[in-house]
Amino acid sequence: MFEKLKDLKTYEAGKPIELVVREFGIKPEEIIKLASNENPYGPPPKAIEKVKNIANQMHRYPDDSFFELKDALSVKFDIKNSNVIIGAGSDQILEFAVHAIAPKKVLMAGITFAMYEIYSKQVGAEILKTKSITHNLNEFYEIYKQQKPEIIFLCVPNNPLGECVDSKEVFEFIEKIDQNTLIVVDGAYQEFASYKDKNKEIKPKDILKYPNVLYTGTFSKAYGLGGMRIGYGIANEFIIQNLHKLRPPFNITTLSLAAAIEALKDEEFVKMGIVKNFEEMEKYKNFAKENGLDYIDSYTNFIVLYIKNSTKIAENLLKKGIIVRNMASYGFEALRITIGKPEENDKLLNTLKGMIS
Ligand SMILES: *Cc1c(COP(=O)(O)O)cnc(C)c1O
Repeated sequence: MFEKLKDLKTYEAGKPIELVVREFGIKPEEIIKLASNENPYGPPPKAIEKVKNIANQMHRYPDDSFFELKDALSVKFDIKNSNVIIGAGSDQILEFAVHAIAPKKVLMAGITFAMYEIYSKQVGAEILKTKSITHNLNEFYEIYKQQKPEIIFLCVPNNPLGECVDSKEVFEFIEKIDQNTLIVVDGAYQEFASYKDKNKEIKPKDILKYPNVLYTGTFSKAYGLGGMRIGYGIANEFIIQNLHKLRPPFNITTLSLAAAIEALKDEEFVKMGIVKNFEEMEKYKNFAKENGLDYIDSYTNFIVLYIKNSTKIAENLLKKGIIVRNMASYGFEALRITIGKPEENDKLLNTLKGMIS
């Protein structure tokens, strides 16, 4: 029993605030959580308001067609409702895609989003990774030619490293791949990348003409709704129809649906968070330069700083109520830090300064 899960590790989520409260007795309001790439400015105010107002609808199942949210996304991306599937986080869309195909082989970058590997191993697939830890699409293509994986994951930009391939390169790559291979373009941080550099922008509409490309997006990062578990997949109708066969009924809660619809009306708030993100990221880059640390240029809401003894440093930060992501499990000494609010970043950098000098 469970033979095919033998090498499968469970997903290592960012440490929750509750754990730091329990273990170190630090007050919840004093904890700085910069480990899960959430929006530090909170949920969009319009979403909060709406959820409060419809709390008395909790006894009702949601409209299982998710018509209103699909409609709002269709307008936003200039596509049709039939090109959209809604998931409990875009994670669930990734799960549908992998389980729908049950591939023998999947291909991904050397270091990338852990769930690609986890869902693939659930169905017994062999995991192929490029030697390069970041996305090197030439290397992807060489492995593809030899191994013919049925699914290829491109994380644009990539979590947990933050780098981003140009969209031109992504489309050139897609053109070279046979239609029997599904290419998943994970756009969880596209709002950040396309703001920073138009060369990184992938419009979901542009992938619709390919019969074998699935775009995924989420409300968990720029849209500030991580706790509501809501994301989406966009593709041509044939892909979407097939993914729907895996969707359990009512997979999205009434409150999450309403929050997502309102979040799409609060673009100003979302934009503010994105602008602040890159302003505040400068502090981390300057800190790295001043202290002789390397970092990866980031197109997301987090940054990877190379730091010796990252495990020890992450632990020491945790004892002071600051939660970041240690990268040691990926085989190198670095921290992945979500860009927080100005005062959070200042406190973290001050504390870190004391630990490395
Ligand atoms: C956060 C994230 C997701 C999905 O998050 P959900 O909360 O499930 O929508 C998908 N891909 C990447 C790369 C992510 O970082």
